[in-house]
Amino acid sequence: MAILYNISFDTVNCYLLPCCADRLEAKVPLEVLDKRYWICKQKVDAFPTKLKEFKAERIKQKQLGNNVKQIGLKILINGGYGLFGNPGFKYSDIRVAELITAYGRYTLSIMQQIAKSNGFEIVGSNISHYHNFFFTCAFLFRKYQYDEDFNKSD
Ligand SMILES: [Zn+2]
Repeated sequence: MAILYNISFDTVNCYLLPCCADRLEAKVPLEVLDKRYWICKQKVDAFPTKLKEFKAERIKQKQLGNNVKQIGLKILINGGYGLFGNPGFKYSDIRVAELITAYGRYTLSIMQQIAKSNGFEIVGSNISHYHNFFFTCAFLFRKYQYDEDFNKSD
């Protein structure tokens, strides 16, 4: 979510200079979070930039067979946003964690609507992070299809 929506302590409400306060495309939609936040469209984002570096390093460590490092990076990539909710963190900004989880909930609600409109039953979900979300939903949908196929063969 941070990479996809450019969410970072230095992009939420443009940090020091509100350069995008009046830009419509910078506003966080009210259906995502009703707090009138916007996300800078002009600044280089520190957190998503770091996440991209961690993702590239994780792929490298996976290819090298270094499982400990790749799992450590996975935890950092998936849960790093939670640090922004900790007042002891140097770059603490609750809005970052709030926006990332809000976009996760919003994405889940859209996926639920799509799944239901295509005849799927939602049996569970996981919004702990972006990739698990999609993999888990895909698994649960397949499981439902498997159950349907299993019942047909009886
Ligand atoms: Zn801006």
